[in-house]
Amino acid sequence: MKCPACSTRLRVLQTEDMIVDVCKYGCGGIWLDRSEYKKVDQQSETAGQALLHIERNPDLSIDSSKRRRCPRCETIVMARRFSSFKRQVEIDTCPYCGGYWLDGGELERIRSLFDTEQDRYKATDQYLSGFQEKAIERYAPEQANLQEYQKREESTISRFFRFLNPFK
Ligand SMILES: [Zn+2]
Ligand SMILES: [Zn+2]
Repeated sequence: MKCPACSTRLRVLQTEDMIVDVCKYGCGGIWLDRSEYKKVDQQSETAGQALLHIERNPDLSIDSSKRRRCPRCETIVMARRFSSFKRQVEIDTCPYCGGYWLDGGELERIRSLFDTEQDRYKATDQYLSGFQEKAIERYAPEQANLQEYQKREESTISRFFRFLNPFK
């Protein structure tokens, strides 16, 4: 798979029981397959730590405003999810395979935004309620399934967020 941001070949990184694809020596981005998400719940609280220090190419500059194609599906353009707290953190998700992409450095930024455990909980709540307000009809297969789709996506993002922000 190639990095959706800088086209460097993604490398496999094994963290405890999880396999993550990272853009090492490139932009430092992180890709998580949907199947790997399922393991997030079972991970130790420090699982995300291994992803904090991915070596990056300092000369590489990334246009973060550009829409990205899913590294797995290639032709599918990913949807961008901004966090609602100051819109500082963005996560791309593939509406087709359900994988998640995080730009290089975003993880450090997420973590640096919160000093305390309470702040992280609060931010997660805010993030989820912000997400709820957003219309996502565009990717929902049918109107009838919208609620179910929304619920599913919320819980996935919630898990991702908790994974990235391990609570002590
Ligand atoms: Zn990259
Ligand atoms: Zn995909």
